[in-house]
Amino acid sequence: MLRGFVNTFAGNPLDRAADRRGDLSWQKAAILRPDALALVLSRGRPLVEADPGGDLRIAYVRGDLTLQLSAEAPAFLGLWKETPIFAVEVEGAPPLLAGAGGFEELREIALRLPATEAAICATAKGLFAWRERHRFCANCGAATESAEAGWKRRCAACNAEHFPRTDPVVIMLATYQDRCLVGRQERWPARMFSALAGFVEPGESIEEACARELKEEAGLTAVSVRYHSSQPWPYPSSLMIGLIAEVTGDQVVPDPVEVHEHHWLTRDEARAVIAGTHPLIRKTSPVAIAHSLLSAWAEGE
Ligand SMILES: [Zn+2]
Repeated sequence: MLRGFVNTFAGNPLDRAADRRGDLSWQKAAILRPDALALVLSRGRPLVEADPGGDLRIAYVRGDLTLQLSAEAPAFLGLWKETPIFAVEVEGAPPLLAGAGGFEELREIALRLPATEAAICATAKGLFAWRERHRFCANCGAATESAEAGWKRRCAACNAEHFPRTDPVVIMLATYQDRCLVGRQERWPARMFSALAGFVEPGESIEEACARELKEEAGLTAVSVRYHSSQPWPYPSSLMIGLIAEVTGDQVVPDPVEVHEHHWLTRDEARAVIAGTHPLIRKTSPVAIAHSLLSAWAEGE
């Protein structure tokens, strides 16, 4: 078992069995197996149902049903022990699925699903979001076709191969002495603050991206950058890289475009934010990696 901090949407328990993806005869047989299961999504929202023992769970359908639900080949997510697990995206709410549960926005229900199932949903959501954006070849503009059980797009016109994208984003808690920095964008809901964040640019290391973002968004100078944990974030294809960065001072020069307001928090205040008792800052969502970073720092990491 892999050790380390597991954020929401990480911890997919499936064996991705990538060696099976290109085996067409195995794939064709696997989808028809009576034990094969499929996760269904509609516009990125997974089909879920009430779980008698808890809150919500994935409403898996039989693997062979996917052939009636969509003209596109299902994606192979992997194996749960010996059981093949597929995913299919449908239009709207097909009558075939009447009574099978409901489609829900993943971010809103992530904490009501078992963590492992939230991670499986995030995998399928990210994969289908990529497919939707890569129906045409980025090299020559011709239509692409699915390969490797949904994990590759191939262009018959120029032979280019396209693979699912993962875009690295640095998200960092700046610390100075015994305080840490959170900021908010003007368009966010009232009292919502988070760690600062930004995309890694070409030619940058993770540490350099972190230092640049802190300089751009808050005028701060980083002297050390420590990795905490990461999080797949399928909106649509980010990998959040959670960092704790020590800076040389607490004089903030806000970026007038990106960050509207900042707060330096003591550890006590950070604990109050996490508990939802801070007078000015609303509780951070446990779904977000910013919550993990703030909790880790508040507890002395
Ligand atoms: Zn092409």
